[in-house]
Amino acid sequence: MISIKSNFEIEVMREAGLIVGKAHRAVADAIKVGVTTNELNAVAEKVIRDSGAIPSFLGYGGFPASICASINEVLVHGIPDNTKLKDGDIISIDIGACYKGYHGDAAWTHSVGEISENAKKLMQVTRESLFIGLQQAKPGNRLGDICHAIGCYVESHGYGVPVDYTGHGIGTSMHEDPAIPNYGVAGRGVVLKQGMTLAIEPMVHIGKPHTKVLKDNWTVVSKDKSLTAHYEHTIVITSTGYEILTINDFEGGDKL
Ligand code: MG
Repeated sequence: MISIKSNFEIEVMREAGLIVGKAHRAVADAIKVGVTTNELNAVAEKVIRDSGAIPSFLGYGGFPASICASINEVLVHGIPDNTKLKDGDIISIDIGACYKGYHGDAAWTHSVGEISENAKKLMQVTRESLFIGLQQAKPGNRLGDICHAIGCYVESHGYGVPVDYTGHGIGTSMHEDPAIPNYGVAGRGVVLKQGMTLAIEPMVHIGKPHTKVLKDNWTVVSKDKSLTAHYEHTIVITSTGYEILTINDFEGGDKL
């Protein structure tokens, strides 16, 4: 069952999204060679709590931190620790915040120091695939139109999307129906309606799109240890298209 949010609920989700965006901005500013992912976690958690919200991820299914910090071959769900960022790393930061009972969820991949041309291209294509998918987010279109647009764009660059991790509906729960794969068939799936709130999140492998979960039962890596990237926004379907709720203003910003 996909819920349609009222204007009041969307207003609260806009607040939650702004808090997520603020936390992302603070983490982006703190990313540099030598900083630990634990330190980045603390930066995000402080912004979220100071804004009157609760970190959505902390304790979710037992997850031990407020952000996911996923370096290089780690696709998603990396647990912050005392690992120091190194020159040439890329790190995907995923942040969720719950404000007055409603969640915002967004992810962004950042470079650390000087990164390879391959890494730059992976990040660019993954970021672009998010906004290419979002171009299909409008009332009357179907969910498969978004999924298809993301998958085709990624694959046209020779990259792959893992089939076992998807975007999702979002609201009073962080993960609501529908699941939103990063591949699919245009014209299939549920019809998008004004007031649906969705987290669209392309996850992309530079190599083969097979994943493995490490022994900590959280960290998801590419099986072939190739680089990965992850970009995500929470959106609401409007009368004519979509609105990004988790607005941020870095690295190309919220446009194609
Ligand atoms: Mg998400």
